[in-house]
Amino acid sequence: MPTFSLPLPDEAATERLGARLASRLRPRDVVALEGGLGAGKTTLARAILRAAAGEPALIVPSPTFTLVEVYETPRGSFWHFDLYRLEEPEQVFELGWEEARIDGVALVEWAERLGPLLPRERLTINLSVEGDGRLATLEGDSRFGEV
Ligand code: ADP
Ligand code: MG
Repeated sequence: MPTFSLPLPDEAATERLGARLASRLRPRDVVALEGGLGAGKTTLARAILRAAAGEPALIVPSPTFTLVEVYETPRGSFWHFDLYRLEEPEQVFELGWEEARIDGVALVEWAERLGPLLPRERLTINLSVEGDGRLATLEGDSRFGEV
């Protein structure tokens, strides 16, 4: 699987990456967003959701407390998970995981909490702090190779 890194010097760069990803994502895709607290996972998910919805001002709260938020967009349903508070992988089924996998796109913060339930076929985006900005490292399907 190809891996490449992309500097995101500011939030505008994250928004551009989100827009490019949104145009390539298809139903059943899983995007695993990795990186510590404050790495920029929610910011990137928000950018993807706004682009998919075609609504630059769409309100996208962090699902820290609800664990999941669902969006119906012209590009299909998008499920935004934040699994930081997941106690065990199987708990994800209570959040609608199977329904999301039928025909939705899953954007998953703290996807590593899924352990063995984490789908093998996925796009993994690791975010880390680099100076005042962020560094995104993408690994997955070649469809995303040129984002
Ligand atoms: P996480 O979901 O990983 O905890 P957030 O998306 O909530 O992180 O972002 C944490 C902070 O990082 C926010 O204040 C956000 O504005 C900032 N941030 C996100 N992406 C970037 C970027 N590319 N450059 C600079 N700051 C960013
Ligand atoms: Mg977050």
